[in-house]
Amino acid sequence: MKKQFAVIGLGRFGGSICKSLAAEGMEVLAIDQDEEKVREFSSIATQAVIADTTDVKALKGLGIRNFDHVIVAIGDNIQASIMTTLILDEMNVKHITVKAQNDYHEKVLRRIGADEVVHPERDIGVRIAHNVVSRNVLDY
Ligand code: ATP
Repeated sequence: MKKQFAVIGLGRFGGSICKSLAAEGMEVLAIDQDEEKVREFSSIATQAVIADTTDVKALKGLGIRNFDHVIVAIGDNIQASIMTTLILDEMNVKHITVKAQNDYHEKVLRRIGADEVVHPERDIGVRIAHNVVSRNVLDY
């Protein structure tokens, strides 16, 4: 059976993950509290729904516990990101990946049950610096 993914937060980061998963032929549920965003993803994701994921009832109603992997891509609102992660962990979601804004945010996320924490801007910066250095080394 195909793995079931859910992406919460359809900003640039979450939106890009959602599009890539859909392009790979995966089943993906796209979630955002913003109606506009959800409309934009309704033709891309398997299903797109409006929900505030800090609301336990809303997440239960989506049957989120049955998903194999949930990606929390809420950016600026750290409180919403933490609340959402906590609820997902309490629901025993198998794998939770969360985008962190800073190191303290990451620490909290790990303590409350995030399986994987990413810092897209920082991680890409590190990778680019590494590539630039290796290219320069090869050039000498
Ligand atoms: P990016 O850099 O990926 O664009 P960002 O840092 O700008 O992300 P935000 O715009 O803060 O991130 O959040 C991404 C999305 O998460 C937004 O579309 C926002 O509507 C959604 N979001 C924020 N809080 C919630 C929530 N409680 N429930 C559902 N969606 C939420």
